[in-house]
Amino acid sequence: MTSLPLVFDAPKRALPPRHLADLSAAQRKEAVVSLGEKPFRARQLSHHYFARLTADPQAMTDIPAQTRDRLAGELLPDLLTPVRQITCDDGTTRKTLWRAHDGTLVESVLMRYPDRTTLCVSSQAGCGMACPFCATGQGGLQRNLSTAEIVEQVRSAAAAMRDGELPGPDGRPAPGRLSNIVFMGMGEPLANYRRVVDAVRRICDPAPDGLGISQRSVTVSTVGLVPAIRKLTEEGLQVRLAVSLHTPDDELRDTLVPVNTRWKVAEVLQAARGYADRTGRRVSIEYALIRDVNDQPWRADLLGKLLHRHLGQFAHVNVIPLNPTPGSKWDASPKPVEREFVRRVNEQGVACTVRDTRGQEIAAACGQLAAEG
Ligand code: SAH
Repeated sequence: MTSLPLVFDAPKRALPPRHLADLSAAQRKEAVVSLGEKPFRARQLSHHYFARLTADPQAMTDIPAQTRDRLAGELLPDLLTPVRQITCDDGTTRKTLWRAHDGTLVESVLMRYPDRTTLCVSSQAGCGMACPFCATGQGGLQRNLSTAEIVEQVRSAAAAMRDGELPGPDGRPAPGRLSNIVFMGMGEPLANYRRVVDAVRRICDPAPDGLGISQRSVTVSTVGLVPAIRKLTEEGLQVRLAVSLHTPDDELRDTLVPVNTRWKVAEVLQAARGYADRTGRRVSIEYALIRDVNDQPWRADLLGKLLHRHLGQFAHVNVIPLNPTPGSKWDASPKPVEREFVRRVNEQGVACTVRDTRGQEIAAACGQLAAEG
């Protein structure tokens, strides 16, 4: 099906220059002092960046011009330049293509709903996990994103929401609040572990140390890197864990999610259980439903039984109708098949719902992010 190799260690390509958002509050103070400035300037800079959501030194008028230029030059390099923005779903879904300092392209997708607004962020440029149904997986891994490159996607979306760039429930542009973050863009977040965990802290720390988004509103989605799930369990975070299972049996999963050849379904579910026990949070089980591949009634029954046994009330299955990617022979399951699948999982006492898929016409839907330039 696919012969792409699994890549765990990103190619050694230069990460961008140091940025304020790479640093913790204590490190920011140190950096400012080592640049010969007063420590309180760190808090001023942080206030502009994390609370006022601006990275523009000209707007930081409470800092003397010379100081401002030096600090901005050292701590606020331009990391991501928007190359293109496309919208659909009446303007409520917006995909941004970004170019990084070295020309690398990444994407993020902002989705406004009546009751919340979610940003789907990228954690790597490309992906090394080689899942054959995912567009990003077909291009391989270019490099990890830095913590600040991840945080910048979020800061700019938070600013766009505050500035009312997307239409509200009545269809007219209206200010809103970025409330949810999902690490479901390009990349495998747990393969860029340290930077992703640091980004989560920057995203969730209360302003002005961070962007002040609730940890409970952040989802980290993984193919199932078991040691990294265990490590995440020890971080003491309250983020939601999502596991891309896609089938309950090892035989098929070895091909759909090739990392399954390293860590099997049972191991992944045990690690997920450990996370649920520690955090008290339900784990999302992602299931891209593919016609005649993983949508059989017996697989629904097996999935329900397996999840009931391993996770009980701590499982929530998200069925994602497959988004066919260019050149793929696969398709989404017919709606009656999908309904029967959900019914059977529910019958085993496991929560299961179908994920609404946004951004289909602009290649911004699940697994379609593969920046072409
Ligand atoms: N690497 C992480 C996060 C990125 S993908 C992971 O795999 O979990 C986010 C989700 O979209 C994953 O569940 C992934 O399997 C799913 N996905 C990828 N391609 C898809 C496609 N073409 N259709 C539907 N879902 C897809």
